[in-house]
Amino acid sequence: MAKTVRCSFCGKTNDAIDQLIAGGARTGTFICDECLDVAADIREDHLPELPDGLATIGVRELRSQVAAVVRRAAGGERIVITVDGRPMAQLGPLTPAGAPQLADLAAAGLVEPPRAPGPAAPPEAEDLPVDVRLDRVIEDLRGR
Ligand SMILES: [Zn+2]
Repeated sequence: MAKTVRCSFCGKTNDAIDQLIAGGARTGTFICDECLDVAADIREDHLPELPDGLATIGVRELRSQVAAVVRRAAGGERIVITVDGRPMAQLGPLTPAGAPQLADLAAAGLVEPPRAPGPAAPPEAEDLPVDVRLDRVIEDLRGR
């Protein structure tokens, strides 16, 4: 007769669950597949959120093209390195002296990068009359 083993987390026995993984023969701890799923969900919920548009690369992919990725980073691009889909580190340009750039703030999650490229269009210029008192111009603009 097989020995009954319990999941150290939920207490279910090996006959009630599909898979039970030993944590180590000396400690006698075990975890069942259901508790592993719960742990994976918890880890997923605590992944840092990456700003939109930030490039990511898996560590295996990075290994095969490290020179090209370093050149991209040196050129100003920020690339987040992931391990098993989890963001772990980032490559980017050397930090310039002085005030942080928008990309630095976005990478730190302090600002949201602009969705549209380029600055907004400047407002329409008003043709102001000459030889008129400014208070009259303002009243006119206000429709009085
Ligand atoms: Zn369990």
